[in-house]
Amino acid sequence: MFDSEVMISIEDALDLILAQAQTTEIEEVAIVESLGRVVARDLISDIDIAPFDNTSMDGFALRSADIAIATPEAPVTLDVVAHIGAGYVYADTVLPGTAVRIMTGAPIPAGSDTVVKIEKVTWTGDGGTGEKATFIGPSSVGENIRPHGEECLAGEVVMQAGEIITSSGVGLMASTGHRCAPVHRHPRVGIISLGTELVDVDTTPGPGQIRNSNCFSLAAEAALAGAEPVIFPTVADDFSAIASALERACSQCDVVVSSGGASGGDFDYITQAADSVGEVFFKYVNMKPGKSQTFAIINGLTPFFGLAGNPAAATVGFEVLVRPLLRKMQGYSELKRPVTRAILSGGMKKVEMRRSLLRGRVERQPDGTYKAKLAKNQSSALLGALHHANCLVVIPEGGVQAVDGMEVDCLRFDMEEGTV
Ligand code: AMP
Ligand code: MG
Repeated sequence: MFDSEVMISIEDALDLILAQAQTTEIEEVAIVESLGRVVARDLISDIDIAPFDNTSMDGFALRSADIAIATPEAPVTLDVVAHIGAGYVYADTVLPGTAVRIMTGAPIPAGSDTVVKIEKVTWTGDGGTGEKATFIGPSSVGENIRPHGEECLAGEVVMQAGEIITSSGVGLMASTGHRCAPVHRHPRVGIISLGTELVDVDTTPGPGQIRNSNCFSLAAEAALAGAEPVIFPTVADDFSAIASALERACSQCDVVVSSGGASGGDFDYITQAADSVGEVFFKYVNMKPGKSQTFAIINGLTPFFGLAGNPAAATVGFEVLVRPLLRKMQGYSELKRPVTRAILSGGMKKVEMRRSLLRGRVERQPDGTYKAKLAKNQSSALLGALHHANCLVVIPEGGVQAVDGMEVDCLRFDMEEGTV
């Protein structure tokens, strides 16, 4: 039986949790579906990109030597022997005294070594014989030519395992021959709500009852963290029902999260239930809201979180403890939300010994500084305050009072980890 009443720091809790993280298997998904996910293997190109030297401008391809002495006063005129656009190849060689009219993306014809952009040229004719182009200045070798292999060569790594796939990354995969991308499978996150008082959203609660909101907010949190939520039936406050629901969910999911029944109340069984089917690592974390947060490994395999029941406490617990694990399982290396340093506007009368994660909004001021405003009511029963917040304002543990004008760290849950 687990009996530790020790309250550990968020950092120690995360160390214990993240040490248990195993990346999910690799799956292949259509490249557009891979957006924002982590590429799980190095990707190489099957061809050189660009595959051939090509023009970066609409203009005229020619031999630079032919117009080396051109000036506005003494222009040089060349015969235009062809017109080519992207997708066409000039089959002949550009001879001295001639030029090929060429459009962006078209291969540089053999014999030519420079392109003069069309705005700098005057010409006669419409592509038929006898067309001429006049140049009023020189053009150096290679000018307006995109060299073959500028992006990469065949066999070269274009994306390394661990990189987050951007929209341009999707394009890079396409141009290098990848229709699908290898990514870590979305972890399946089982969500169990504990509480005899809970009824479903479609039911008007009777005396003593409330609607189960946590299963939905936690499912949404799981989805936001890149996981696939699986909502399990609500379980009443009954030890053996909880233990069997826990085992069942853990056998079907990669991670399981429950809410409610997590503290020391008369009907709070989750820690003992987790202990009966697994190994409990901790039960209390030095944070407010959400002190009662059980973490366990069930049946030697599945990470399990017994989050606090109060809606804001459950969501904050998920944000701080569960989300980093889910990201690590998908190969992300950035596990911390960006922090904005801000000046607190307003304060709190109450002084806490635990580290407070207060719901608030941080906003950039016209002078470039940041101001953080706290939600008026910090009750952990409230969802609205969290809904309107964009950050958690950190007030350090140990009886620090939140006062107007103090500098604070704001954990930006409106910004993805790794954003600078
Ligand atoms: P507990 O952790 O079980 O003591 O619950 C703390 C508070 O959160 C109580 O007021 C519960 O009614 C409430 N609560 C627990 N589970 C849920 C849930 N799934 N949805 C909404 N409120 C909940
Ligand atoms: Mg309860």
